[in-house]
Amino acid sequence: MANIIKCRGFILKTIPFKESSLITSVLTNRLGKVKLLAKGVRRPKSKICGAMEPFNLDEVIFYKREFKEIYNLSDAVVIDSFEQIRHDPERVNAALVLCEFYNKTLPAEEADYQAFSLLMRFLNGLRNADVSVARTIALAFLLKAFSGAGVMPHLENCVRCHKSILNNGKVDFSINAGGIVCDEHYDDTVVFLSRPTIDTLRSIYTRTQLHIEDDALDEIENFLADYMYVHLNNLHLNTLKHLK
Ligand SMILES: [Zn+2]
Repeated sequence: MANIIKCRGFILKTIPFKESSLITSVLTNRLGKVKLLAKGVRRPKSKICGAMEPFNLDEVIFYKREFKEIYNLSDAVVIDSFEQIRHDPERVNAALVLCEFYNKTLPAEEADYQAFSLLMRFLNGLRNADVSVARTIALAFLLKAFSGAGVMPHLENCVRCHKSILNNGKVDFSINAGGIVCDEHYDDTVVFLSRPTIDTLRSIYTRTQLHIEDDALDEIENFLADYMYVHLNNLHLNTLKHLK
């Protein structure tokens, strides 16, 4: 028995399949991440092809079958193509960071409305803000997404012993331990973060309005790749290197 499903979803990624088809990974509002086979959409007359662009918000209709990992897409209609983002390569590159993150980290078919709504807020933020802060927005939302993935950095006190850490110039942040550490729990994956950077990291998790200084942004970007590699199953995001 096949169930017809109609729901909203963001296109996270598409890959060509055979001569004229695509396999697309979609973050839906109701079923979490699903894989859909869009047959024949790369033919010139396909009506669905335009709906398959990354980070489009579409209404998709597909047939869900038991014991299948990929479902046949029956129709897709664009609800929002985030046109304002597509005018600037900087915005596009930023948008793709969270798409790649969710495509690589979300388990298949586990409803995750938090991820869906964070991606929505991210793309809306990206299109409304000045292009100069595209990188800031991408890194801030990537860090916010760590919270949903259960790997939010521990920033309140020493992640190992919970001793409070004195407010001096630099703070030791252990990539392996996933948070700030006291002298006793210093290890060889420690990076030094300045106080403003720690405050910025905290504010990313507590505030909706963001202001991040460039210095803090650089310090954050420097440890992100290693942090994701350690805490998210050797995760590597190709899109991060295009971020400016
Ligand atoms: Zn400690």
